[in-house]
Parts: sequence; C-alpha cells; structure tokens
Amino acid sequence: MIGCCHLAEYDVKLAEEAVSRLFSMLHLETVIRPEWKVTIKPNLLMKRRPEDGTTTHPAVVRAIVKNLQKLGVSRITIADSPGGLYSKAALAGIYRATGMEAVAEETGAVLNCDLGTTHCPQPDGVVCKAFDLINPIAEADFVISAAKLKSHCMTGLSGGVKNLFGCIPGLTKPEFHWRFPQEKDFCNMLLDLCETVKPGATFVDAIVSMEGDGPSSGELRKTGLLLAADNPYQLDLALSHIIGREPDSILTIQNARERGLCPLNYNELELAGDPLPVFSDFKMPRSRTVDFQSNIPRPLRGICKPVIDRFFTPKPVIDRKICIGCGKCAESCPAHTISVVNRKAEINRANCIKCYCCHEMCPVHAISVKRSRILEKM
Ligand code: SF4
Ligand code: SF4
Repeated sequence: MIGCCHLAEYDVKLAEEAVSRLFSMLHLETVIRPEWKVTIKPNLLMKRRPEDGTTTHPAVVRAIVKNLQKLGVSRITIADSPGGLYSKAALAGIYRATGMEAVAEETGAVLNCDLGTTHCPQPDGVVCKAFDLINPIAEADFVISAAKLKSHCMTGLSGGVKNLFGCIPGLTKPEFHWRFPQEKDFCNMLLDLCETVKPGATFVDAIVSMEGDGPSSGELRKTGLLLAADNPYQLDLALSHIIGREPDSILTIQNARERGLCPLNYNELELAGDPLPVFSDFKMPRSRTVDFQSNIPRPLRGICKPVIDRFFTPKPVIDRKICIGCGKCAESCPAHTISVVNRKAEINRANCIKCYCCHEMCPVHAISVKRSRILEKM
C-alpha cells in the first residue's frame, strides 16, 4: 500500500494531519503496540539546516512522533548514522542543525547517543550475509524510515531503500563502497540491508525534494508530497514514477524486481489518498550517464573496466578555490585516495572507484561530478 498526501509547505499542524491520514491508510493503529520501542530513522546526511533540503524536515519527524504518541507509544527514539564520524559530538551538532534537537525537546522523543552496534546475520543475503547495525535500529520493535526524496549521484534515487544505509555506523559505510564498487552489487547490498532492517513503515518527505546533483549538492524542487508505504521497494517504484524515470534505470528497483520484492509495473501498486503527480522534468545527477559497466557481461568487465573508467565514467573534480581543507572528503573516501595538502584536497585518480562519497560529504560544494569530454559531445 502506498499512501499519498498533497502538502504544499512545512506547516507543523498540516504535517501532523497529513501523517495522521497516512497512519490510517497503512492501518498502523492495528500494527504498532503501545509498549513497543519504536525508532524513527530520518535522513540526517550531514550538518545542514532544514531549509537546505538535504535532510528529512523536522516538521515531518515531529508529525510522526506526535502520531505515535497518539497511539500510546512512549518509547520513541530518533536515530541515524550520518556521513562521516559517528561520535557523540558529531551527532549533537547534526541534531541541532537539522532541527531534531527541537523536535526532541518539544515531544520528549529521545535522540540516540548510543554509539554501539549489533551484529545481525542475514543468511538469505544475495551479496552480504551480515551487517553491524547501530543499536537503536537493531533493538527496535518497529522501525519507521523517514526518507527524503532526492536524486543521488551513485544510485540515481535516494528514497526508501537508500535511506537505510544510515543504519550502518559512521566510517564503516565507505568500506561498503570499497567492497561493492560495481553499482549493481552495491544496490544488491542495499537490498540485503533493507531485508535485515525490515522497516515496518517508510515515510518520504517529498514536500521540497532535491533534484540534480543530489544527495547534497542538488537544487531544491517543490514537489508538495508526503508519502508512506509498508513496503519500501514499492515506495521506491512509486518514487521513480513521480520523478519520471524508467524503474530499471534505478538499480535498487531493478534488483528488487529481479528478486520478486517489488511488482514489475507501477500500475500494479495499490494506491491510497491523493493522486501521484509526475515531474517528468525532474533533473537527474550529471553522473547518471549510461552505466556501461553494469551493461557488460561479467566475464568481460575486468578487461573493459580501465577503458570505461578512463574515458566514460564521470569523475569527481575539486574546485581548489572553494575547498576549505576540512578533510571530510578524505575521511569518507573508501579508496583512501584523497589527501589534503596545504589546506587543499587532492585526488589521486589512479585509485578512485567513482563512488562519489567525496562529492556527497563536501560541506561547501567544492567537489563536482564531471562527465567525460567524449560524453559531453555525444
Ligand atoms: S575520490 Fe571520491 S569518488 Fe573517488 S573513491 Fe574517493 S570518495 Fe569515491
Ligand atoms: S573538497 Fe570539500 S570536503 Fe574536501 S577538504 Fe575541500 S572543502 Fe573539505
């Protein structure tokens, strides 16, 4: 079931009413028990203000907390492992900047500061058989994912499935990029993760979305929607429809269809509430050129990779005039191929696996993703 509410702005009262409608559409009052520990997992990628459109808006998180409290739930935790270091100091700064601190103060929900992890086996995993999850996710009776609709340089779409990458602690995340450098494998890992976390409900803040070079350097786009679903794969299929993309162009959706986790067609989705609009001109990231690598038979990929990497795959490029030498890119680089010299970051391209984590984590938009000159002429 996919529930949809049209909502033009981040008004706390209207958001609370819209979330109440979505709770009813998903029948959450019959699913969630008052005595349960419920964890809300927003997208808190980095230290950004709500109006920057990078993180789930506090009005949406607040509305979910308030509606849980109406069901009698009292043990509510807000938790995420943002990009970069997973430390109490880093979390405190992000909670404050993103408006989560104010939500917790008003509602009494707890902001997670437990830095522990729990080993969670996933015997049915296709590419990954276990994950170490942050404790508030592993220990919850019910997880509510509160995603933000954004384009994404690597996976194309940041929606329900991608939001769960933040259930993996801190700098362990870049290790997954290193283990799964091929986009198809990385997206299969995200599905294994989603099957491990098993969110009971997924909400998507698409009131103001991010298009273009998301998930942190794109442009804001008013899409005026608040969505919720009991199945994150179906929700992502609906999101691909909303942003006017072929479902198979988003590999998390393609993989979910191949595994039978998601219908083949948008028309097979069960919809409730307001009609879903289509933003066919929604801009995708510059990195989303043709994924040559995934389209080549596996045995030939090793031979073709150097040529594809060199001539066709978009590259991260640092603008030295903008760089402030903070080192966030180097910290997040799974290939350890960025160094900061004289307060300016430099990339050693020989080792770059084109995961774009550096682009995602740069706080001042000093890193852009540039298409190759050959593709620019095509
Ligand atoms: S330089 Fe950037 S794109 Fe290349 S491996 Fe490091 S983080 Fe990924
Ligand atoms: S490129 Fe961005 S993230 Fe890297 S050191 Fe410069 S300002 Fe920091």
